[in-house]
Amino acid sequence: MIPFLDLRQINSSYRHELIDAMTRVLDSGWYIQGSEVTAFEQEFAAYCGTRHCVGVANGLDALILTLRAWKEMGKLTDGDEVIVPANTYIASILAIIENRLKPVLVEPSENTFNLCPHKTRRAITNKTKAIVAVHLYGQMCPMPELMNLANEFNLLLLEDAAQAHGASIDGRKAGSWGHAAGFSFYPGKNLGALGDAGAVSTNDDDLSQTIRALGNYGSHKKYENLYQGINSRLDEMQAAILRVKLQHLNDEVERRRKIAQYYLQNINNQFVDLPYSGNQESHVWHLFVIRSKSRTAIQAHLKREGVNTMIHYPIPPHKQEAMKYYQNIELPITESIHKEVLSIPMGPQLTVEEAERIASALNKFE
Ligand SMILES: *Cc1c(COP(=O)(O)O)cnc(C)c1O
Repeated sequence: MIPFLDLRQINSSYRHELIDAMTRVLDSGWYIQGSEVTAFEQEFAAYCGTRHCVGVANGLDALILTLRAWKEMGKLTDGDEVIVPANTYIASILAIIENRLKPVLVEPSENTFNLCPHKTRRAITNKTKAIVAVHLYGQMCPMPELMNLANEFNLLLLEDAAQAHGASIDGRKAGSWGHAAGFSFYPGKNLGALGDAGAVSTNDDDLSQTIRALGNYGSHKKYENLYQGINSRLDEMQAAILRVKLQHLNDEVERRRKIAQYYLQNINNQFVDLPYSGNQESHVWHLFVIRSKSRTAIQAHLKREGVNTMIHYPIPPHKQEAMKYYQNIELPITESIHKEVLSIPMGPQLTVEEAERIASALNKFE
């Protein structure tokens, strides 16, 4: 059986470096807010090309704390509208709701599954104050156009870069285009820790200080509290692990791109639509998502052929039990995406031979 994603195999390939890093933390006697976190924040900011990176506990908190910081800074207030793609992973939307802001669900582009400037513009009202641009499946949104829109209407732009570490447009990385970006280092993400972890990248000095305080009980200085904050910190162990994995990220992205190119060139079946792929640099292939009206049959066929697949995501956010008040809105593009998408194996551990087996299994489907 070809697994969908083999995390054990990926992490085992860095076994000795990871054990050295973990031993260093163990022996340091210092486990929270120490030198590993500081070093990782500097290294990841340099990687993204931003002035700041603030480590937090997970990707959801990265988004929640950024929006919360903008509220504390007087840039957002309760009830402001925030544009977000309707087909995103629910975390992007929860971060908005958690801050008592109003998510405005916008249909994505049929091609890229990402926000497009045209539909985004149409969703802007005089209450709109921010856009959350999600780089879904590892493909970047059209950031130059979205930033132009944000500037034209004086909106904040938050990138949800949880799936897009290392992607770039015109040489500028995901996480450096918006006013801030949230990253997740959940183990299955392209840059994955061995537990929960996340970060915010930004060029804004005030914002980075506010987020840092908010994630540390609202404290900017030991035992002094500026805000009613929360506890959301990146810990030393995960930071040390992430420093190891960051060194291999570019290689892993290249391997993902190679597998994606193989799929794009070799999968050929009238029942299967291949994902849109624009500029190479702008996509880091967190997921390789095909689309088909025969999804259920294809998934069963692949299983019989020894290939595990997954669905990202089976139920759109507005159809979730948790979001009952959205039940009456209609989002046909989003709904058809959720009915038709199927993620086939993708990851740095996948060999070209496995990709060959997967492509030929898919081509046999009829
Ligand atoms: C994973 C993910 C998140 C949340 O990250 P966690 O670290 O799991 O909290 C947010 N947005 C998107 C698009 C994601 O894929």
